[in-house]
Amino acid sequence: MECLLVTGGAGFIGSHLVRLAVERGLRVVDLDALTYAGNPRNLEGIPTERHVFVEGSVNDRALLARLLEEHRPDAVIHLAAESHVDRSLDDPTLFVRTNINGTFELLEATLDHWKGIGPGERERFRYLQVSTDEVYGSVKTGFSREGDPYDPRSPYAASKAAADHLVRSFHHAHGLPTLVTSCGNNYGPRQAPEKLIPRAILCLLAGERLPIYGRGENVRDWIFVEDHCRALLEVVGQGEPGRTYHVGAEDRRRNLDVASTICAVLDELRPRADGARHEESIAFVEDRPGHDLRYALDVSRIRDELGWEAELSFEDGLRRTVSWYLENDAWVTEALARPDALSRQGLGRTERT
Ligand code: NAD
Repeated sequence: MECLLVTGGAGFIGSHLVRLAVERGLRVVDLDALTYAGNPRNLEGIPTERHVFVEGSVNDRALLARLLEEHRPDAVIHLAAESHVDRSLDDPTLFVRTNINGTFELLEATLDHWKGIGPGERERFRYLQVSTDEVYGSVKTGFSREGDPYDPRSPYAASKAAADHLVRSFHHAHGLPTLVTSCGNNYGPRQAPEKLIPRAILCLLAGERLPIYGRGENVRDWIFVEDHCRALLEVVGQGEPGRTYHVGAEDRRRNLDVASTICAVLDELRPRADGARHEESIAFVEDRPGHDLRYALDVSRIRDELGWEAELSFEDGLRRTVSWYLENDAWVTEALARPDALSRQGLGRTERT
C-alpha cells in the first residue's frame, strides 16, 4: 500500500495512526471535521510531504468523492466519530448524524469510487471500519467472539453497531472489500481530557478530586493506542475482506484499579506537595446511567491468523502516558481551556446531583 485515506485523523487514535503510517513511508490523506475532539496540535511534527490534512466532514459526499478521485488511496480507514458515551446519553443527535449517516455517506462514496477504478486497483482496495467492543454490550463472563450478536446499550454503542451493520451489508450486497475491527479502551498520549485516564491524570495534577463512577467496579479491556494502530495497519494490509478482527491486549481491569495505578505512578513521578498519597483524592460519584459492567474480547483470531500481538504492558503504557502529560504543558493547557474539558457529562437526562 502507498496511500491511505484516514478519517478522524486529528483525534486521539487517528493522530497516532497517521503518525505510524507516515513513519512507515505511506502517504496519508487525513479528513477531519475538527469537532471539539479534533485537535490540530495532535498532528504537530508529522512531515507534510506525506500528510495532507483536509478539514471537512464525512457527511459531505461530494468532498469524499473528490478526495477519492484526486488521491486514489489504496485503502480507507474510517475512525471519524462522536466517541464519548457520556455525551451520547445527554444528546445522541450528533452520534446518529456522524456515526451512522457519516459512515453511510463514506460507504456510498467509496463504493462509487471502487466501481470506477481498474481491476488491479479494485482487487487491492480495502475499506476498514474502526469499531468498539461496546457493540456487544456487557459481557457477564467469558469473552465476546467475532460473529457474536450485538447488544449495544448506549446511544454511542448503538450508533457504532448500526455503522458496522451498514459496512457488512456493503460487503455482502456489493462486494466492497470491507473489514471491521473491534477494540477495547485505548489510552495513551493526546487523548482528550474527558476520557477516564487523561481525566484522572489531569484532575490529580490540578489538585482536584479524581471522580470514579459508581464503585469503580466496571471492567474494561485496556490497550495502548500505538498497539491498536499497529493492529489497524496489519488488518488493512493482511486481513481478509468481509471479516471482523478483535483487537486487544487481554488486559482487563476495574476502573478503580486503573485509578489506583495512575495514583501510584504519579506518587513516584510527581508527588503531592503536602506529602499525602494521590490515592486519597479518589472520590466515588454518581454512576453513569446504564453503565455496562464488563467488556472482554477474545483476540485469538488476529493473533492466530495475522500474527499480531500487543507489545506494551499496561504498567509500561501507563507510565509513558503519564510522562507525556507531565511533559506537554502546552497541549494540556490548551485542551483544558476547551469548553467542558473536565466537566461531568451524561447526567443531562437524569437528575443532576
Ligand atoms: P476522538 O473523539 O478522539 O476523535 C474523533 C475524531 O473524529 C475527531 O478528530 C473529530 O474531529 C473527528 N470527527 C468527528 N465528526 C466528524 C465528521 N463528521 N467528519 C470528519 N471528522 C469527524 O475518538 P477516538 O478515541 O480517537 O476514536 C476514534 C475511533 O475509534 C472512533 O470511531 C471510535 O468509535 C473508535 N474506538 C475508540 C476507542 C477508544 O477507546 N477511544 C475504542 C474502540 C474504538
